[in-house]
Amino acid sequence: MIMNIENKYQDFLGEFNKYLERINKKATLIAVSKTKPIDNIVSLCRLGHCDFGENYAQEFRDKIKDERFSSFNIRWHFIGNIQRNKLKYIVGKSSLIHTVDSYDKAEMINDFSIKVDSVQPILLQVNISKDPKKGGVSAEEVNNLFPKLMMLKNIKINGLMTITQYSEDPENCRNDYKEMKNLSLILESKYGGSLELSMGMSNDYKVALDEGATMVRVGTKIFGERRK
Ligand SMILES: *Cc1c(COP(=O)(O)O)cnc(C)c1O
Repeated sequence: MIMNIENKYQDFLGEFNKYLERINKKATLIAVSKTKPIDNIVSLCRLGHCDFGENYAQEFRDKIKDERFSSFNIRWHFIGNIQRNKLKYIVGKSSLIHTVDSYDKAEMINDFSIKVDSVQPILLQVNISKDPKKGGVSAEEVNNLFPKLMMLKNIKINGLMTITQYSEDPENCRNDYKEMKNLSLILESKYGGSLELSMGMSNDYKVALDEGATMVRVGTKIFGERRK
């Protein structure tokens, strides 16, 4: 049988929902559509999917303004590297920016949000596995940084995000995800509210859900392999 995008999505969604039911949890599935054509995204919109993740600011800018999306209510998540000269493409336009990994970037976003008169929801990215190739603040820094970010009035910190070190065996990520959950519990007890935890991708989303992810970011398992 040829697996078109609708079949692939529905297969995955079935697997995802079954797993959530089994562990008795809820989470948002973000379909990571970077490098994938708009037609594929529209197909999922027609099936009722609302949350999409994009990594590249220009691609983000071009995709979100496409008129094929005008009849859908999409939540666009920005999950890529943030650059000052491309802030204008994402701030005030993204439902949630997942990749704020320094005070400077938070301040940049806050300043831009003031200019466009919006409040930008963000997540603080944590480099929980201390991977030199990944962005994010250290677990130790989070406790210092969090209250400072709370002072910036035109951003809203919805929670934490992490990209763990890739491993063939997703069990190797379990401890990192546990640590993320602990971090968020500590912050919740200090500052109140409940925090989102954006963690887990195609390879390890089940482990992330076990450990308390409230959002998982899944690309390959929904859209197939990417070329770049
Ligand atoms: C590409 C990407 C994903 C999706 O990865 P898959 O392995 O294809 O599911 C998730 N999160 C981030 C930050 C990404 O860049």
